[in-house]
Amino acid sequence: MPEQEPKIALIGNPNSGKTSIFNQLTGLQQKVGNFPGVTVDKKTGTLELPGGIRAELIDLPGAYSFYPTSKDEKLVVQSLVQPGNDNYPDAIVYIADVTKLEKHLLLFSQLKDLGIPVVLALNMADVAEQEGLQYDLDKLSQKLGAPALLLSGRSGEGMNKLKTMLAELLAQPAIGPVDSTQYRLSPEESKLIPQLQDKFPGYTPYQLVLLAHHVKWLPFLSPLQKEQIEEAISNSGFQDLQLQVYETMQRYDQFTPIVQQARDKDGDQSASFTDRLDDLLTNRFFGPIVFFGLMLLIFHALFTWAELPMNLIEGAIGSLSTFLQNSLPEHWLTNLLTEGVLAGFSGIVVFIPQIAILFFLISLLEEVGYMARAAFMFDRIMQFFGLNGRSIVALISGGACAIPAIMSTRTISNWKERLITILVTPFISCSARIPVYTVLIGFVVPPTKIGFINLQALAFMGLYLLGIAAALLSALVFKLILRTNETSFLMLELPAYRLPVMRNVWLTVWEKVKTFTVEAGRIILIITIVLWVLSSFGPPGSIPAAETAAQRSAQEQKMNADETQDLVDAKVMEASFAGRLGKFIEPVIKPLGFDWKIGIALITSFAAREVFVATMATIYSIGHQDDEYSIREKMANQRDPVTKELVYTPATSLSLLLFYVFAMQCMSTIAVVRRETKSWKWPLIQFGFMTGLAYLSSWLAYMWLS
Ligand code: GDP
Repeated sequence: MPEQEPKIALIGNPNSGKTSIFNQLTGLQQKVGNFPGVTVDKKTGTLELPGGIRAELIDLPGAYSFYPTSKDEKLVVQSLVQPGNDNYPDAIVYIADVTKLEKHLLLFSQLKDLGIPVVLALNMADVAEQEGLQYDLDKLSQKLGAPALLLSGRSGEGMNKLKTMLAELLAQPAIGPVDSTQYRLSPEESKLIPQLQDKFPGYTPYQLVLLAHHVKWLPFLSPLQKEQIEEAISNSGFQDLQLQVYETMQRYDQFTPIVQQARDKDGDQSASFTDRLDDLLTNRFFGPIVFFGLMLLIFHALFTWAELPMNLIEGAIGSLSTFLQNSLPEHWLTNLLTEGVLAGFSGIVVFIPQIAILFFLISLLEEVGYMARAAFMFDRIMQFFGLNGRSIVALISGGACAIPAIMSTRTISNWKERLITILVTPFISCSARIPVYTVLIGFVVPPTKIGFINLQALAFMGLYLLGIAAALLSALVFKLILRTNETSFLMLELPAYRLPVMRNVWLTVWEKVKTFTVEAGRIILIITIVLWVLSSFGPPGSIPAAETAAQRSAQEQKMNADETQDLVDAKVMEASFAGRLGKFIEPVIKPLGFDWKIGIALITSFAAREVFVATMATIYSIGHQDDEYSIREKMANQRDPVTKELVYTPATSLSLLLFYVFAMQCMSTIAVVRRETKSWKWPLIQFGFMTGLAYLSSWLAYMWLS
């Protein structure tokens, strides 16, 4: 046995129940990390085996074979082709859906050729029992050359037995590299292998064949090794595609009769419950109706169920902050704690209800097998835009908030489609834009009615549609720009409908909330503190000077205490770094019809778009008004001190509205995009093009109206 904790990999086709079994085996002892160099999450957990053995369980992504069509599948190949790499397992648990054994054994047969000990775990024992499907396990095990057992990721049946078998497997001497394959090698392969054997010691013949198939993209190969492989390929007449087909057919021919002979009784072949339900749920008319009905429900839940906990969180943190402000000495450290750290903390925690609710509902739908159907229904149209059937869930949830929506794209296995979904989702108008729209629409559109239609409501809807159009069109553009060699394939096999395993649902919710708070949270906290510093400090001496000046002019104008405080706040903000930054960027935003006050609001509302309204209230010294409508009234009367023209003309207001429709004014989204794409490159590109589009459209609108 190796000295470190032995590594055990969970491998299986998508939907074989790998995640359920991983959850059963490790419970909360899971960690999410990174596979080096790629954006795929690596889930690992600790496994306690009989005899006090501890092992590390690695959950590899689902894969159909060693001939990958997605990034996830490539990762599986990459982890298993090179003996001794960081993810190379000491033993494998291969999960197969016992009700679809013939389809699920291809990868198993390939794995056998690696010489790593494998346990064949036949999942969905409960379904097999219901359907009267029985296998002679001894026969299967003997013919397939691996210990086999029945288990259930749902009930947990068989988990202890699996652990015992794994302990036994690890206790046996390692098999070591096998020198044959499960299928008869083709003449080309037989010629290729000896040419590579001494250059790649420790590789099994099948691993050498795989090197030849994947020489173009395997990241660990050195240029010299690539050259050697290419040479062997041309010497032996090795043909990539042809040999893949040859090998696959051979393998099926080999294991199909074994499976048939070991099956004691054929399962129920009559039209199942699943088929009948599918007739309705993927029907061309009823399918989309049911889907949008369900989405409406989720959307409704995101808004209404999340509201109470969000208010409670904000209320509680607000009270704590006031309490601390009143009881701690007046000092910038107190302000840092209350307005910087606590505000940042609040900005993180406040998203938890939405994230939890969205993932609770989505993973329920996923668990019962519905999501696969929804993706299937919309795949074709979404692929036209460079998206994936599953993107539609993200786009719809984006109407509540882009944060959980972007996190929900993790189920899209094609990287390009996932990336495009992430990039365009923030265009969908989220709930934080509503207060900004509410305040500004009044300056552009009069509250008149045409017939029974309220013009302002129509404008509201127009802004939403604009966001949707921007999302779809830019997806189309990205589809053309971004290059990939991954093929997107339409889902062909739909899983059966099942009762959800609540344990899986809760673990998903837990995992999402945890990664958001820990990973995106860190960035949100830092940016909040930076924004706080910007708006609380200024060049030395400038803030006290502004305070004194404001106090004096308040006295001259005989203002009451509240008015004085408002004026002081406004002048302090003006003197702060944020204020200076607002003035500094004024030349840049002038062509859009924005003055420096709006500039400040653009900067501060980066914390969250709705902060725009509060900043406007402060800067026009009309604080202490909670109501958007009274703020709007005050704003409506603002005039330029020099030209005496109204600030919020229709031109400026429309320009500002468009800016908020398109611009990436949300640090939390940036933090989440960085987390999900695991690099700063994509959030920066996204920030750049969204801001660019916002600038351009605001500029055009301003020129047109002014
Ligand atoms: P993965 O894609 O391989 O990770 O598979 P999941 O663990 O997500 O499972 C796919 C579906 O099968 C989910 O709906 C699970 O609830 C369900 N499932 C998993 N194991 C069992 C089982 O033993 N019995 C039944 N009836 N359903 C299961």
